[in-house]
Amino acid sequence: MPQYRIRLTPSLVESMTLSTMEAYCIGDLEERRKNGVETYGYVWGTKNRSRDGLTIFHLSKLSISITAKRSYMAVFPNPKAGILKNNVLQRMAPHLTLLADFHSHPWATQKSMKRDVGFDFSPQDFISFLQDDLFWETSDNNPVMLVQTVVRLSRKGRKGSGWRRPNVFHFDIDDHRFWINAVVGFLDEHGNRQHTGNRTRSVIIEPLAFTNSTGSRISG
Ligand SMILES: [Zn+2]
Repeated sequence: MPQYRIRLTPSLVESMTLSTMEAYCIGDLEERRKNGVETYGYVWGTKNRSRDGLTIFHLSKLSISITAKRSYMAVFPNPKAGILKNNVLQRMAPHLTLLADFHSHPWATQKSMKRDVGFDFSPQDFISFLQDDLFWETSDNNPVMLVQTVVRLSRKGRKGSGWRRPNVFHFDIDDHRFWINAVVGFLDEHGNRQHTGNRTRSVIIEPLAFTNSTGSRISG
């Protein structure tokens, strides 16, 4: 299977987290559940291929969709929104390519999140991903799907950051924990759309700039 690395810029992670938190803590006027609603957006960046066949995604820009239909257990994109936003951004920032879609998974409790492995993409996420022609076309058949999961921590536990899997990175902000999961789509030898799945060694999320890596110390 091809190998992929995902680089998320700090400003992208900030924008994702702000939207995920607003949707989680405040929700939507029509959806007043404990875990708020899911949010949805479009992600642009650049893609490079190294000589040894490694594809590196540098994802840098997020635009949250204000016409996606948000609910507490799903979010439905407006198909017109991605085309419109991409046409506008191509005029303003032609060096950026629409490479990924983003949504959030809000969970009311740690227990339910753990029970259902809430940071995984759902079967419906994968069906939508394989069918969404826009991202396959703009990304030259290499789209990325990102999900950010959030849960409020009930007890004071060990805080930190790291990987649950190579493609799942987690970090804490005060009493909230976040996981970012990434999946990459590609064409197989028959030209059929495939994806790397929830459990893979083909996709690595690089460490986020503001989180600690093991053994790091500030000197001086
Ligand atoms: Zn999902």
